[in-house]
Amino acid sequence: MAAGDSGDAVAKVLAAFREEQARGVASRSDFERLKGRFLGREKGLVPALFAGVRDLPPSERAALGARANAAKVEIESAVAGLGEDLARREREARERAAAVDVTLPGRRAPTGGLHPVTVVRRRIERVFLRMGYSIADGPELENDRTNFEMLNFPPEHPARDTQDTFFVSKKAKSPLLLRTHTSPVQIREMSRRGAPLRIIVPGRVYRNEALDATHAAVIHQLEGLVVDRGISMADLKGTIEEFLAALFGPDTKVRFIPTFFPFVEPGADVAMTCIFCRGAGCGKCKGSGWIEIMGAGAVHPKVLENCGIDPEEFTGFAFGLGLDRIALLLFGFPDLRLLLEGDQRFLRRFAFES
Ligand SMILES: [Zn+2]
Repeated sequence: MAAGDSGDAVAKVLAAFREEQARGVASRSDFERLKGRFLGREKGLVPALFAGVRDLPPSERAALGARANAAKVEIESAVAGLGEDLARREREARERAAAVDVTLPGRRAPTGGLHPVTVVRRRIERVFLRMGYSIADGPELENDRTNFEMLNFPPEHPARDTQDTFFVSKKAKSPLLLRTHTSPVQIREMSRRGAPLRIIVPGRVYRNEALDATHAAVIHQLEGLVVDRGISMADLKGTIEEFLAALFGPDTKVRFIPTFFPFVEPGADVAMTCIFCRGAGCGKCKGSGWIEIMGAGAVHPKVLENCGIDPEEFTGFAFGLGLDRIALLLFGFPDLRLLLEGDQRFLRRFAFES
């Protein structure tokens, strides 16, 4: 190889390197390729220059060796610079990816909501608390005497057939059973506190029923009881009108139809303006414009007496309704089973009700 060729070879390698250096390296693999092309031990262009120097006559070696060495120093230093630059850009990209953007909206943790029956219970409680009632509670495991006998359901009375339940123990003096209504709490409160009395009693009750769209073995009731001097059916009607208007709207009308419950006299089935047709008549109310909503009546004198209250001095009224049924009406869904299944797709609809 002639000296001139070798000199050109150094210039060519330097020119090729500067061209690539000017383009820069976009990625780690770009960088490794460039480094290998010029500085690679086996096939790199810079080590090849030194192999060329060894082939030269001794008189030319020193000069060319110096030029090749200068090129090597320049390229090595530039490659190191490109490497540092790349490492810095890689570090910045990693930091960007890991950074938290504090301006993004937060993710809301699911906190759950109230069950529709709870929503209805609380709305009704608010209405009666405003009217000066207090809330009473009692055991779900009752005895026959408090659940039936003191409410005028003697043993073998046919009215018991409508309230078949689950007996826990028939051996006790007064058999233990799951309460069929919240009325035994009225008995407990009247016996304990006497008159005057103004309470509502929300709670879970049990019936031996097969589950379908309108029946379940566990349902929720809310009863009200007022005992005082001079309480009449007119007070009952005014109270019910006020309550149903608060819950279903001010144009809700109320109708009483005489009926029999053992613990009241007289007793009434209470119907209200159909909420679907506002009284015009529709399929839901079988064209009548009315839907039955609750039972009510004047407290039977015998029941007052059973609790140690003198029926000559005090009179009272009581009413009761099913919270599950109210929830069906108020929120407009057709099937009681939806309330029991815990299906999130259904329950989420009520997350913001209160
Ligand atoms: Zn209707």
